[in-house]
Amino acid sequence: VTYVPPLRDLAFSLDHLAEAGRLKELLAGYDDDTQSAVLDAAGRFARDVLAPLNRIGDETGARYLNGTVQAAPGFAQAYRTFAEAGWNGLAAPVDFGGQGLPRALSLAVFEMLHSANMAFGLCPMLTQAAIEVLCAYGSDRQRSLYLGKLVSGAWTGTMNLTEPQAGSDLASVRLRAEPDGDGRYRLSGQKIFITWGDHDMSENIVHLVLARVAGAPEGTKGLSLFLVPKRRVNDDGSLSAANAVSAMRIEEKLGIHGSPTCTMLYDGADAELVGAPNQGLALMFTMMNAARLQVGVEGVAIAERAYQQALAFARERRQGRSVWTGEYPAPIVDHPDVRRMLALMKARIEAARGLCLATGVAADLARAGDERARLREELFTPIAKAWSTDMGVEVASLGVQMHGGMGYIEETGAAQHYRDARITPIYEGTNGIQAIDLVGRKLALADGAALSDLFADIRATIAAIDTLPGVAARLSDAVVAAETATAWLRETQRANPASPLAGATPCLTLLGDTIGGWMLAKGALAAARSRDSSSPTRAALARFYAGHVLARTPGIAAAAMAGDDDLRSLTPDVLTTA
Ligand SMILES: Cc1cc2nc3c(=O)[nH]c(=O)nc-3n(C[C@H](O)[C@H](O)[C@H](O)COP(=O)(O)OP(=O)(O)OC[C@H]3O[C@@H](n4cnc5c(N)ncnc54)[C@H](O)[C@@H]3O)c2cc1C
Repeated sequence: VTYVPPLRDLAFSLDHLAEAGRLKELLAGYDDDTQSAVLDAAGRFARDVLAPLNRIGDETGARYLNGTVQAAPGFAQAYRTFAEAGWNGLAAPVDFGGQGLPRALSLAVFEMLHSANMAFGLCPMLTQAAIEVLCAYGSDRQRSLYLGKLVSGAWTGTMNLTEPQAGSDLASVRLRAEPDGDGRYRLSGQKIFITWGDHDMSENIVHLVLARVAGAPEGTKGLSLFLVPKRRVNDDGSLSAANAVSAMRIEEKLGIHGSPTCTMLYDGADAELVGAPNQGLALMFTMMNAARLQVGVEGVAIAERAYQQALAFARERRQGRSVWTGEYPAPIVDHPDVRRMLALMKARIEAARGLCLATGVAADLARAGDERARLREELFTPIAKAWSTDMGVEVASLGVQMHGGMGYIEETGAAQHYRDARITPIYEGTNGIQAIDLVGRKLALADGAALSDLFADIRATIAAIDTLPGVAARLSDAVVAAETATAWLRETQRANPASPLAGATPCLTLLGDTIGGWMLAKGALAAARSRDSSSPTRAALARFYAGHVLARTPGIAAAAMAGDDDLRSLTPDVLTTA
Protein backbone atom coordinates (compact mmCIF):
# COMPACT_ATOMS: atom_id res chain seq x y z
CA VAL A 1 0.00 0.00 0.00
CA THR A 2 1.39 3.39 -0.96
CA TYR A 3 2.03 5.79 1.89
CA VAL A 4 -0.17 8.89 1.76
CA PRO A 5 1.36 11.82 3.69
CA PRO A 6 -1.36 13.08 6.10
CA LEU A 7 -0.78 16.71 5.14
CA ARG A 8 -4.12 18.08 6.27
CA ASP A 9 -4.04 16.26 9.59
CA LEU A 10 -0.49 17.42 10.29
CA ALA A 11 -1.28 21.04 9.50
CA PHE A 12 -4.47 20.86 11.56
CA SER A 13 -2.62 19.35 14.52
CA LEU A 14 0.11 21.95 14.34
CA ASP A 15 -2.33 24.84 14.13
CA HIS A 16 -5.15 23.77 16.44
CA LEU A 17 -3.87 21.10 18.84
CA ALA A 18 -0.29 22.29 19.30
CA GLU A 19 -1.14 25.98 18.77
CA ALA A 20 1.80 26.65 16.49
CA GLY A 21 0.26 30.04 15.73
CA ARG A 22 2.11 31.34 18.77
CA LEU A 23 5.38 30.45 17.05
CA LYS A 24 4.30 32.06 13.81
CA GLU A 25 3.90 35.35 15.69
CA LEU A 26 7.33 34.92 17.24
CA LEU A 27 9.60 33.58 14.52
CA ALA A 28 10.40 35.47 11.35
CA GLY A 29 10.22 33.14 8.38
CA TYR A 30 7.63 30.76 9.84
CA ASP A 31 4.14 31.38 8.49
CA ASP A 32 1.25 29.43 6.99
CA ASP A 33 2.76 29.40 3.51
CA THR A 34 6.15 28.17 4.71
CA GLN A 35 4.49 25.48 6.78
CA SER A 36 2.41 24.17 3.95
CA ALA A 37 5.28 24.32 1.42
CA VAL A 38 7.59 22.43 3.80
CA LEU A 39 5.00 19.77 4.67
CA ASP A 40 4.09 19.32 1.04
CA ALA A 41 7.67 18.85 -0.16
CA ALA A 42 8.60 16.58 2.76
CA GLY A 43 5.51 14.48 2.12
CA ARG A 44 6.51 14.02 -1.52
CA PHE A 45 10.04 13.04 -0.53
CA ALA A 46 8.79 10.57 2.07
CA ARG A 47 6.25 9.01 -0.29
CA ASP A 48 8.35 8.92 -3.45
CA VAL A 49 11.90 8.29 -2.21
CA LEU A 50 11.75 6.68 1.25
CA ALA A 51 8.57 4.62 1.28
CA PRO A 52 9.60 2.47 -1.73
CA LEU A 53 12.77 1.46 0.21
CA ASN A 54 10.95 0.36 3.36
CA ARG A 55 10.42 -3.23 2.27
CA ILE A 56 13.94 -3.80 0.92
CA GLY A 57 15.33 -2.26 4.11
CA ASP A 58 13.39 -4.86 6.05
CA GLU A 59 14.15 -7.84 3.83
CA THR A 60 17.80 -7.20 2.96
CA GLY A 61 18.73 -4.84 5.77
CA ALA A 62 22.09 -3.33 6.57
CA ARG A 63 25.06 -5.69 6.22
CA TYR A 64 28.32 -6.13 8.05
CA LEU A 65 31.11 -6.82 5.54
CA ASN A 66 34.88 -6.90 6.18
CA GLY A 67 34.74 -4.73 9.25
CA THR A 68 32.41 -2.07 7.85
CA VAL A 69 28.68 -1.60 7.56
CA GLN A 70 26.85 -1.27 4.27
CA ALA A 71 23.49 0.41 4.33
CA ALA A 72 20.56 -1.44 2.77
CA PRO A 73 20.26 -1.16 -1.03
CA GLY A 74 19.11 2.29 -2.15
CA PHE A 75 19.58 3.91 1.26
CA ALA A 76 22.87 5.72 0.46
CA GLN A 77 21.42 7.32 -2.67
CA ALA A 78 18.25 8.30 -0.78
CA TYR A 79 20.39 9.80 1.97
CA ARG A 80 22.29 11.94 -0.53
CA THR A 81 19.01 13.17 -2.00
CA PHE A 82 17.76 13.91 1.52
CA ALA A 83 20.87 15.91 2.44
CA GLU A 84 21.06 17.76 -0.88
CA ALA A 85 17.44 18.86 -0.51
CA GLY A 86 18.40 20.49 2.82
CA TRP A 87 16.06 18.41 5.00
CA ASN A 88 18.72 17.78 7.57
CA GLY A 89 19.04 21.45 8.51
CA LEU A 90 15.36 22.35 8.71
CA ALA A 91 15.38 23.28 12.40
CA ALA A 92 19.13 23.94 12.71
CA PRO A 93 20.50 27.44 13.33
CA VAL A 94 20.89 29.66 10.27
CA ASP A 95 24.47 30.49 11.37
CA PHE A 96 25.50 26.94 10.61
CA GLY A 97 23.65 26.56 7.34
CA GLY A 98 20.29 25.52 8.77
CA GLN A 99 16.90 27.03 8.01
CA GLY A 100 16.08 28.04 11.58
CA LEU A 101 12.52 26.73 11.39
CA PRO A 102 10.80 25.56 14.57
CA ARG A 103 11.33 22.13 15.99
CA ALA A 104 7.58 21.51 15.94
CA LEU A 105 7.55 21.78 12.15
CA SER A 106 10.61 19.56 11.93
CA LEU A 107 8.80 16.95 14.05
CA ALA A 108 5.90 16.99 11.61
CA VAL A 109 8.37 16.44 8.78
CA PHE A 110 10.04 13.63 10.69
CA GLU A 111 6.69 11.96 11.27
CA MET A 112 6.41 11.53 7.52
CA LEU A 113 10.00 10.33 7.15
CA HIS A 114 9.50 7.75 9.90
CA SER A 115 6.15 6.63 8.49
CA ALA A 116 7.74 6.08 5.12
CA ASN A 117 10.84 4.37 6.45
CA MET A 118 11.59 4.45 10.15
CA ALA A 119 14.90 2.58 9.82
CA PHE A 120 16.17 5.33 7.51
CA GLY A 121 14.72 8.16 9.61
CA LEU A 122 16.72 7.09 12.64
CA CYS A 123 19.99 8.20 11.05
CA PRO A 124 19.09 11.89 10.53
CA MET A 125 17.10 11.83 13.77
CA LEU A 126 20.26 11.10 15.74
CA THR A 127 22.16 13.70 13.74
CA GLN A 128 19.55 16.28 14.85
CA ALA A 129 20.19 15.34 18.45
CA ALA A 130 23.97 15.71 17.96
CA ILE A 131 23.45 19.13 16.39
CA GLU A 132 21.37 20.14 19.38
CA VAL A 133 24.02 19.17 21.93
CA LEU A 134 26.87 20.83 20.03
CA CYS A 135 24.82 24.02 19.55
CA ALA A 136 24.21 24.15 23.29
CA TYR A 137 27.55 23.01 24.67
CA GLY A 138 30.18 22.70 21.92
CA SER A 139 33.29 24.90 22.02
CA ASP A 140 33.71 27.50 19.26
CA ARG A 141 36.16 25.17 17.56
CA GLN A 142 33.81 22.20 17.76
CA ARG A 143 30.97 24.24 16.38
CA SER A 144 32.97 25.60 13.51
CA LEU A 145 34.50 22.23 12.59
CA TYR A 146 31.49 19.96 13.07
CA LEU A 147 28.19 21.81 13.02
CA GLY A 148 28.20 22.88 9.40
CA LYS A 149 28.88 19.32 8.23
CA LEU A 150 26.24 17.84 10.52
CA VAL A 151 23.66 20.43 9.50
CA SER A 152 24.27 19.85 5.80
CA GLY A 153 24.09 16.10 6.39
CA ALA A 154 27.58 15.55 4.93
CA TRP A 155 28.36 13.87 8.25
CA THR A 156 25.95 12.00 10.52
CA GLY A 157 25.80 11.78 14.32
CA THR A 158 25.36 8.97 16.83
CA MET A 159 24.64 8.70 20.50
CA ASN A 160 26.82 6.26 22.48
CA LEU A 161 25.53 5.50 25.97
CA THR A 162 24.79 1.81 26.33
CA GLU A 163 27.33 -0.80 27.46
CA PRO A 164 26.63 -4.45 28.32
CA GLN A 165 26.38 -3.69 32.07
CA ALA A 166 24.99 -0.16 31.62
CA GLY A 167 21.55 0.13 30.01
CA SER A 168 18.94 1.93 32.06
CA ASP A 169 21.59 2.40 34.73
CA LEU A 170 24.06 4.81 33.19
CA ALA A 171 25.84 5.17 36.53
CA SER A 172 27.69 1.97 35.65
CA VAL A 173 29.15 3.23 32.35
CA ARG A 174 32.81 2.18 32.22
CA LEU A 175 34.25 3.30 28.88
CA ARG A 176 37.63 4.77 29.84
CA ALA A 177 38.99 8.17 28.81
CA GLU A 178 42.71 8.77 29.34
CA PRO A 179 44.01 12.34 28.97
CA ASP A 180 46.74 12.38 26.31
CA GLY A 181 48.55 15.35 27.92
CA ASP A 182 47.64 17.58 24.98
CA GLY A 183 44.14 18.52 26.06
CA ARG A 184 42.67 15.58 24.20
CA TYR A 185 41.71 12.07 25.34
CA ARG A 186 42.06 8.41 24.30
CA LEU A 187 38.89 6.34 24.62
CA SER A 188 39.00 2.60 25.23
CA GLY A 189 36.20 0.09 25.70
CA GLN A 190 32.97 -1.03 24.12
CA LYS A 191 29.54 0.42 23.47
CA ILE A 192 26.66 -1.77 22.38
CA PHE A 193 23.42 -1.24 20.45
CA ILE A 194 24.61 1.93 18.72
CA THR A 195 22.12 3.00 16.06
CA TRP A 196 23.76 3.80 12.73
CA GLY A 197 27.15 3.44 14.55
CA ASP A 198 28.74 2.70 11.19
CA HIS A 199 27.58 2.93 7.58
CA ASP A 200 28.58 4.03 4.10
CA MET A 201 26.02 6.81 3.57
CA SER A 202 28.15 9.80 4.63
CA GLU A 203 31.85 10.66 4.51
CA ASN A 204 32.21 10.89 8.27
CA ILE A 205 30.36 9.93 11.46
CA VAL A 206 30.48 12.00 14.66
CA HIS A 207 30.04 9.87 17.76
CA LEU A 208 28.92 11.54 20.99
CA VAL A 209 30.11 9.24 23.72
CA LEU A 210 29.62 8.97 27.47
CA ALA A 211 32.82 7.86 29.17
CA ARG A 212 34.66 8.12 32.46
CA VAL A 213 37.96 9.98 32.80
CA ALA A 214 40.53 8.01 34.78
CA GLY A 215 40.14 8.95 38.47
CA ALA A 216 36.65 10.49 38.03
CA PRO A 217 34.05 9.86 40.74
CA GLU A 218 31.91 6.72 40.65
CA GLY A 219 28.34 6.91 39.40
CA THR A 220 26.76 9.48 37.12
CA LYS A 221 28.80 12.31 38.65
CA GLY A 222 31.93 10.93 36.97
CA LEU A 223 30.59 10.79 33.42
CA SER A 224 31.91 13.09 30.72
CA LEU A 225 30.75 13.63 27.16
CA PHE A 226 33.21 13.15 24.30
CA LEU A 227 33.18 13.82 20.61
CA VAL A 228 34.83 11.09 18.55
CA PRO A 229 34.86 11.34 14.75
CA LYS A 230 35.10 8.15 12.70
CA ARG A 231 37.70 9.94 10.58
CA ARG A 232 39.80 12.52 12.33
CA VAL A 233 39.30 16.12 11.34
CA ASN A 234 42.14 18.58 10.60
CA ASP A 235 42.00 22.14 11.88
CA ASP A 236 40.96 23.37 8.43
CA GLY A 237 38.00 20.97 8.48
CA SER A 238 39.46 18.49 5.98
CA LEU A 239 39.38 14.79 6.77
CA SER A 240 42.41 13.00 8.12
CA ALA A 241 43.16 9.34 8.91
CA ALA A 242 40.66 6.86 10.32
CA ASN A 243 40.21 7.08 14.08
CA ALA A 244 40.56 4.01 16.34
CA VAL A 245 36.82 3.39 16.53
CA SER A 246 35.00 0.74 14.54
CA ALA A 247 31.92 -1.44 14.45
CA MET A 248 32.67 -5.02 15.55
CA ARG A 249 29.30 -6.44 14.54
CA ILE A 250 25.71 -5.54 13.90
CA GLU A 251 22.76 -7.13 15.68
CA GLU A 252 20.16 -9.48 14.23
CA LYS A 253 16.90 -8.07 15.46
CA LEU A 254 13.10 -8.15 15.41
CA GLY A 255 12.58 -5.07 13.23
CA ILE A 256 14.13 -1.91 11.78
CA HIS A 257 16.49 -4.14 9.78
CA GLY A 258 17.49 -1.18 7.64
CA SER A 259 19.00 0.52 10.69
CA PRO A 260 22.35 -1.02 11.66
CA THR A 261 22.61 -1.55 15.44
CA CYS A 262 26.35 -1.70 16.10
CA THR A 263 28.73 -2.89 18.76
CA MET A 264 31.42 -0.21 18.76
CA LEU A 265 35.02 -0.82 19.74
CA TYR A 266 37.00 2.16 21.02
CA ASP A 267 40.63 1.18 20.85
CA GLY A 268 42.44 4.28 22.11
CA ALA A 269 40.27 6.50 19.89
CA ASP A 270 41.20 10.19 19.69
CA ALA A 271 38.50 12.15 21.47
CA GLU A 272 37.74 15.66 22.65
CA LEU A 273 35.68 16.70 25.62
CA VAL A 274 32.34 18.44 25.07
CA GLY A 275 31.53 20.85 27.90
CA ALA A 276 33.14 20.47 31.32
CA PRO A 277 34.50 17.20 32.74
CA ASN A 278 32.01 15.15 34.79
CA GLN A 279 29.05 17.06 33.33
CA GLY A 280 28.45 14.42 30.67
CA LEU A 281 25.10 13.13 31.80
CA ALA A 282 23.52 16.57 32.04
CA LEU A 283 24.78 17.36 28.54
CA MET A 284 23.68 14.01 27.19
CA PHE A 285 20.21 14.76 28.52
CA THR A 286 19.93 17.57 25.97
CA MET A 287 20.47 14.96 23.31
CA MET A 288 18.26 12.39 24.99
CA ASN A 289 15.34 14.75 25.50
CA ALA A 290 15.44 15.75 21.84
CA ALA A 291 15.62 12.09 20.86
CA ARG A 292 12.85 11.07 23.30
CA LEU A 293 10.39 13.41 21.68
CA GLN A 294 11.48 12.17 18.27
CA VAL A 295 10.91 8.58 19.37
CA GLY A 296 7.40 9.54 20.46
CA VAL A 297 6.91 10.83 16.92
CA GLU A 298 8.14 7.47 15.62
CA GLY A 299 5.27 5.88 17.54
CA VAL A 300 2.81 8.20 15.77
CA ALA A 301 4.50 7.61 12.44
CA ILE A 302 4.44 3.85 12.48
CA ALA A 303 0.85 3.88 13.75
CA GLU A 304 -0.21 6.13 10.87
CA ARG A 305 1.40 3.79 8.35
CA ALA A 306 -0.20 0.71 9.94
CA TYR A 307 -3.56 2.51 10.01
CA GLN A 308 -3.45 3.47 6.35
CA GLN A 309 -2.67 -0.09 5.39
CA ALA A 310 -5.39 -1.53 7.66
CA LEU A 311 -8.02 0.86 6.29
CA ALA A 312 -7.20 -0.04 2.69
CA PHE A 313 -7.42 -3.75 3.51
CA ALA A 314 -10.69 -3.36 5.41
CA ARG A 315 -12.33 -1.74 2.40
CA GLU A 316 -11.33 -4.59 0.10
CA ARG A 317 -11.60 -7.74 2.16
CA ARG A 318 -15.13 -9.17 2.16
CA GLN A 319 -16.51 -11.50 4.81
CA GLY A 320 -20.00 -12.10 6.21
CA ARG A 321 -23.13 -9.93 6.17
CA SER A 322 -23.01 -6.37 7.44
CA VAL A 323 -25.49 -5.65 10.19
CA TRP A 324 -25.52 -2.03 9.01
CA THR A 325 -25.90 -2.40 5.24
CA GLY A 326 -27.23 -5.94 4.82
CA GLU A 327 -24.65 -6.47 2.08
CA TYR A 328 -23.24 -9.98 1.60
CA PRO A 329 -20.34 -10.55 1.47
CA ALA A 330 -19.64 -7.15 2.96
CA PRO A 331 -16.32 -5.36 3.12
CA ILE A 332 -15.11 -6.00 6.66
CA VAL A 333 -14.97 -2.24 7.26
CA ASP A 334 -18.78 -2.43 7.53
CA HIS A 335 -18.67 -4.67 10.61
CA PRO A 336 -18.95 -2.73 13.89
CA ASP A 337 -15.99 -4.45 15.53
CA VAL A 338 -13.69 -3.69 12.60
CA ARG A 339 -14.90 -0.10 12.54
CA ARG A 340 -14.16 0.04 16.27
CA MET A 341 -10.57 -0.99 15.64
CA LEU A 342 -10.18 1.62 12.90
CA ALA A 343 -11.73 4.36 15.02
CA LEU A 344 -9.47 3.47 17.93
CA MET A 345 -6.43 3.58 15.67
CA LYS A 346 -7.39 6.92 14.13
CA ALA A 347 -8.37 8.56 17.43
CA ARG A 348 -5.23 7.43 19.22
CA ILE A 349 -3.02 8.63 16.37
CA GLU A 350 -4.64 12.07 16.38
CA ALA A 351 -4.28 12.26 20.16
CA ALA A 352 -0.60 11.27 20.19
CA ARG A 353 0.24 13.49 17.22
CA GLY A 354 -1.29 16.43 19.08
CA LEU A 355 0.65 15.57 22.22
CA CYS A 356 4.01 15.27 20.41
CA LEU A 357 3.55 18.43 18.36
CA ALA A 358 2.38 20.34 21.44
CA THR A 359 5.58 19.23 23.17
CA GLY A 360 7.52 20.49 20.14
CA VAL A 361 5.80 23.88 20.28
CA ALA A 362 6.50 24.07 24.02
CA ALA A 363 10.17 23.30 23.31
CA ASP A 364 10.35 26.08 20.72
CA LEU A 365 8.65 28.58 23.04
CA ALA A 366 10.92 27.52 25.89
CA ARG A 367 13.95 28.31 23.76
CA ALA A 368 12.48 31.76 23.21
CA GLY A 369 12.46 32.23 27.00
CA ASP A 370 8.89 31.22 27.91
CA GLU A 371 9.14 29.65 31.39
CA ARG A 372 5.62 28.21 31.41
CA ALA A 373 6.38 26.49 28.11
CA ARG A 374 9.63 25.10 29.52
CA LEU A 375 7.71 23.42 32.33
CA ARG A 376 5.18 22.07 29.84
CA GLU A 377 8.00 20.66 27.68
CA GLU A 378 9.57 18.96 30.68
CA LEU A 379 6.28 17.52 31.89
CA PHE A 380 5.22 16.33 28.45
CA THR A 381 8.50 14.80 27.23
CA PRO A 382 8.29 11.44 29.08
CA ILE A 383 4.56 11.19 28.31
CA ALA A 384 5.09 12.01 24.63
CA LYS A 385 7.80 9.36 24.42
CA ALA A 386 6.13 6.56 26.34
CA TRP A 387 2.43 7.07 25.68
CA SER A 388 2.93 7.60 21.95
CA THR A 389 5.16 4.57 21.54
CA ASP A 390 2.85 2.31 23.55
CA MET A 391 0.14 3.63 21.27
CA GLY A 392 2.30 2.88 18.22
CA VAL A 393 2.69 -0.76 19.24
CA GLU A 394 -1.00 -1.08 20.06
CA VAL A 395 -2.06 0.43 16.75
CA ALA A 396 0.42 -1.65 14.76
CA SER A 397 -0.93 -4.71 16.58
CA LEU A 398 -4.50 -3.70 15.69
CA GLY A 399 -3.24 -3.32 12.13
CA VAL A 400 -2.16 -6.97 12.15
CA GLN A 401 -5.44 -7.98 13.79
CA MET A 402 -7.53 -6.18 11.18
CA HIS A 403 -5.85 -8.20 8.45
CA GLY A 404 -6.79 -11.51 10.10
CA GLY A 405 -4.44 -14.32 9.05
CA MET A 406 -2.98 -12.16 6.31
CA GLY A 407 -1.70 -9.83 9.00
CA TYR A 408 0.57 -12.56 10.30
CA ILE A 409 1.99 -13.22 6.85
CA GLU A 410 5.02 -11.10 5.97
CA GLU A 411 3.91 -10.55 2.37
CA THR A 412 1.13 -8.17 3.46
CA GLY A 413 3.52 -5.74 5.18
CA ALA A 414 1.37 -5.26 8.32
CA ALA A 415 3.74 -7.49 10.29
CA GLN A 416 6.74 -5.27 9.48
CA HIS A 417 5.07 -2.26 11.08
CA TYR A 418 4.43 -4.27 14.23
CA ARG A 419 8.02 -5.55 14.34
CA ASP A 420 9.43 -2.08 13.62
CA ALA A 421 7.22 -0.41 16.23
CA ARG A 422 8.29 -2.78 19.00
CA ILE A 423 11.65 -1.13 19.64
CA THR A 424 10.17 2.31 20.34
CA PRO A 425 9.02 1.61 23.93
CA ILE A 426 12.49 0.18 24.64
CA TYR A 427 15.15 2.58 23.37
CA GLU A 428 15.85 6.16 24.46
CA GLY A 429 15.04 5.10 28.02
CA THR A 430 12.46 2.32 28.34
CA ASN A 431 8.88 3.39 28.91
CA GLY A 432 9.23 2.15 32.48
CA ILE A 433 12.08 4.61 32.98
CA GLN A 434 9.99 7.41 31.42
CA ALA A 435 7.21 6.67 33.92
CA ILE A 436 9.69 6.84 36.79
CA ASP A 437 10.94 10.19 35.49
CA LEU A 438 7.34 11.38 35.39
CA VAL A 439 6.40 10.45 38.95
CA GLY A 440 9.85 11.03 40.43
CA ARG A 441 10.58 14.45 38.96
CA LYS A 442 7.92 15.85 36.71
CA LEU A 443 4.81 15.70 38.92
CA ALA A 444 6.56 17.93 41.42
CA LEU A 445 7.98 20.38 38.84
CA ALA A 446 7.70 23.96 40.08
CA ASP A 447 6.07 22.56 43.19
CA GLY A 448 3.32 20.96 41.12
CA ALA A 449 2.59 24.10 39.07
CA ALA A 450 3.45 22.39 35.77
CA LEU A 451 0.74 19.84 36.45
CA SER A 452 -1.90 22.20 37.84
CA ASP A 453 -1.32 24.49 34.87
CA LEU A 454 -2.07 21.55 32.57
CA PHE A 455 -5.26 20.66 34.42
CA ALA A 456 -6.37 24.30 34.24
CA ASP A 457 -5.82 24.34 30.46
CA ILE A 458 -7.83 21.14 30.02
CA ARG A 459 -10.65 22.56 32.14
CA ALA A 460 -10.71 25.68 29.97
CA THR A 461 -11.35 23.46 26.93
CA ILE A 462 -14.00 21.48 28.83
CA ALA A 463 -15.81 24.72 29.63
CA ALA A 464 -15.86 25.62 25.94
CA ILE A 465 -17.14 22.34 24.44
CA ASP A 466 -20.80 22.71 25.23
CA THR A 467 -21.75 21.11 21.90
CA LEU A 468 -20.19 17.81 23.03
CA PRO A 469 -21.57 17.25 26.54
CA GLY A 470 -20.58 13.56 26.62
CA VAL A 471 -16.96 14.41 25.82
CA ALA A 472 -16.93 17.23 28.39
CA ALA A 473 -18.25 14.90 31.10
CA ARG A 474 -15.77 12.10 30.40
CA LEU A 475 -12.86 14.51 30.11
CA SER A 476 -13.89 16.13 33.34
CA ASP A 477 -13.92 12.73 35.08
CA ALA A 478 -10.50 11.96 33.60
CA VAL A 479 -9.04 15.21 34.95
CA VAL A 480 -10.44 14.44 38.40
CA ALA A 481 -8.98 10.92 38.21
CA ALA A 482 -5.60 12.28 37.10
CA GLU A 483 -5.62 14.97 39.78
CA THR A 484 -6.51 12.49 42.51
CA ALA A 485 -3.93 9.90 41.45
CA THR A 486 -1.08 12.37 40.97
CA ALA A 487 -1.80 14.05 44.32
CA TRP A 488 -1.82 10.63 46.00
CA LEU A 489 1.46 9.62 44.35
CA ARG A 490 3.18 12.83 45.44
CA GLU A 491 1.82 12.47 48.94
CA THR A 492 2.80 8.81 49.46
CA GLN A 493 6.27 9.37 47.99
CA ARG A 494 7.44 10.88 51.28
CA ALA A 495 6.40 7.94 53.43
CA ASN A 496 7.09 5.11 50.99
CA PRO A 497 9.08 5.83 47.80
CA ALA A 498 8.27 2.36 46.43
CA SER A 499 4.59 3.13 46.26
CA PRO A 500 4.68 5.74 43.45
CA LEU A 501 7.21 3.61 41.58
CA ALA A 502 4.68 0.75 41.60
CA GLY A 503 2.06 3.10 40.16
CA ALA A 504 4.31 4.98 37.75
CA THR A 505 3.27 3.29 34.50
CA PRO A 506 -0.49 3.48 35.18
CA CYS A 507 0.05 7.13 36.12
CA LEU A 508 1.74 7.84 32.80
CA THR A 509 -1.04 6.03 30.92
CA LEU A 510 -3.64 8.01 32.85
CA LEU A 511 -2.04 11.35 32.01
CA GLY A 512 -1.48 10.30 28.39
CA ASP A 513 -5.09 9.16 27.98
CA THR A 514 -6.34 12.40 29.53
CA ILE A 515 -4.11 14.67 27.46
CA GLY A 516 -5.12 12.63 24.40
CA GLY A 517 -8.81 13.29 25.16
CA TRP A 518 -8.00 16.96 25.58
CA MET A 519 -6.29 17.03 22.18
CA LEU A 520 -9.29 15.44 20.46
CA ALA A 521 -11.67 17.82 22.22
CA LYS A 522 -9.56 20.79 21.11
CA GLY A 523 -9.64 19.42 17.58
CA ALA A 524 -13.42 19.02 17.58
CA LEU A 525 -13.84 22.48 19.00
CA ALA A 526 -11.49 24.17 16.53
CA ALA A 527 -13.02 22.35 13.55
CA ALA A 528 -16.54 23.37 14.62
CA ARG A 529 -15.52 27.00 15.14
CA SER A 530 -13.76 27.31 11.80
CA ARG A 531 -16.47 25.26 10.02
CA ASP A 532 -13.72 22.94 8.80
CA SER A 533 -15.03 20.11 6.63
CA SER A 534 -13.50 17.62 9.08
CA SER A 535 -15.77 18.90 11.87
CA PRO A 536 -18.30 16.00 12.02
CA THR A 537 -15.47 13.43 11.87
CA ARG A 538 -13.52 15.15 14.62
CA ALA A 539 -16.60 15.35 16.82
CA ALA A 540 -17.33 11.65 16.27
CA LEU A 541 -13.72 10.69 17.02
CA ALA A 542 -13.71 12.77 20.22
CA ARG A 543 -16.96 11.10 21.34
CA PHE A 544 -15.64 7.65 20.45
CA TYR A 545 -12.40 8.26 22.36
CA ALA A 546 -14.35 9.56 25.34
CA GLY A 547 -16.46 6.38 25.43
CA HIS A 548 -13.67 3.89 24.76
CA VAL A 549 -10.55 5.43 26.28
CA LEU A 550 -11.47 8.20 28.72
CA ALA A 551 -14.15 6.00 30.27
CA ARG A 552 -11.37 3.75 31.59
CA THR A 553 -9.42 6.50 33.34
CA PRO A 554 -10.96 6.07 36.83
CA GLY A 555 -9.88 2.40 36.71
CA ILE A 556 -6.37 3.32 35.63
CA ALA A 557 -6.21 5.84 38.47
CA ALA A 558 -7.08 3.04 40.88
CA ALA A 559 -4.16 1.00 39.50
CA ALA A 560 -1.85 4.00 39.92
CA MET A 561 -2.89 4.21 43.58
CA ALA A 562 -2.74 0.49 44.34
CA GLY A 563 0.56 0.80 46.21
CA ASP A 564 3.40 -1.69 46.33
CA ASP A 565 2.33 -4.13 49.10
CA ASP A 566 1.16 -6.91 46.82
CA LEU A 567 4.09 -6.48 44.46
CA ARG A 568 6.49 -6.67 47.37
CA SER A 569 4.94 -9.96 48.46
CA LEU A 570 5.06 -11.44 44.96
CA THR A 571 8.73 -12.35 45.28
CA PRO A 572 10.56 -14.21 42.50
CA ASP A 573 10.20 -17.40 44.56
CA VAL A 574 6.44 -16.97 44.81
CA LEU A 575 6.24 -16.12 41.12
CA THR A 576 8.27 -19.14 40.03
CA THR A 577 6.08 -21.76 38.38
CA ALA A 578 5.83 -24.85 40.57
C1 LIG B 1 17.65 -1.48 18.22
C2 LIG B 1 18.28 -0.76 19.35
C3 LIG B 1 18.87 0.48 19.12
C4 LIG B 1 19.48 1.16 20.17
N1 LIG B 1 20.16 2.34 19.91
C5 LIG B 1 20.93 2.89 20.88
C6 LIG B 1 21.80 3.98 20.60
O1 LIG B 1 21.85 4.50 19.47
N2 LIG B 1 22.60 4.44 21.59
C7 LIG B 1 22.60 3.91 22.84
O2 LIG B 1 23.35 4.36 23.68
N3 LIG B 1 21.78 2.87 23.15
C8 LIG B 1 20.95 2.36 22.20
N4 LIG B 1 20.14 1.29 22.48
C9 LIG B 1 20.09 0.78 23.84
C10 LIG B 1 18.78 1.10 24.54
O3 LIG B 1 18.67 2.47 24.81
C11 LIG B 1 18.71 0.21 25.81
O4 LIG B 1 18.51 -1.09 25.36
C12 LIG B 1 17.63 0.65 26.76
O5 LIG B 1 17.94 1.90 27.33
C13 LIG B 1 17.40 -0.36 27.88
O6 LIG B 1 18.59 -0.79 28.46
P1 LIG B 1 18.88 -2.35 28.60
O7 LIG B 1 18.68 -2.98 27.29
O8 LIG B 1 20.17 -2.55 29.26
O9 LIG B 1 17.72 -2.89 29.53
P2 LIG B 1 17.76 -2.91 31.14
O10 LIG B 1 18.23 -1.60 31.67
O11 LIG B 1 18.46 -4.13 31.58
O12 LIG B 1 16.20 -3.04 31.47
C14 LIG B 1 15.49 -4.29 31.42
C15 LIG B 1 14.09 -4.04 32.00
O13 LIG B 1 14.19 -3.61 33.36
C16 LIG B 1 13.56 -2.36 33.55
N5 LIG B 1 14.36 -1.56 34.50
C17 LIG B 1 15.70 -1.34 34.49
N6 LIG B 1 16.04 -0.56 35.51
C18 LIG B 1 14.92 -0.25 36.18
C19 LIG B 1 14.61 0.54 37.34
N7 LIG B 1 15.54 1.21 37.99
N8 LIG B 1 13.32 0.61 37.74
C20 LIG B 1 12.34 -0.02 37.05
N9 LIG B 1 12.58 -0.77 35.97
C21 LIG B 1 13.84 -0.88 35.53
C22 LIG B 1 13.51 -1.72 32.17
O14 LIG B 1 12.44 -0.78 32.06
C23 LIG B 1 13.34 -2.93 31.26
O15 LIG B 1 11.97 -3.28 31.17
C24 LIG B 1 19.47 0.61 21.46
C25 LIG B 1 18.85 -0.61 21.69
C26 LIG B 1 18.28 -1.29 20.65
C27 LIG B 1 17.67 -2.64 20.92
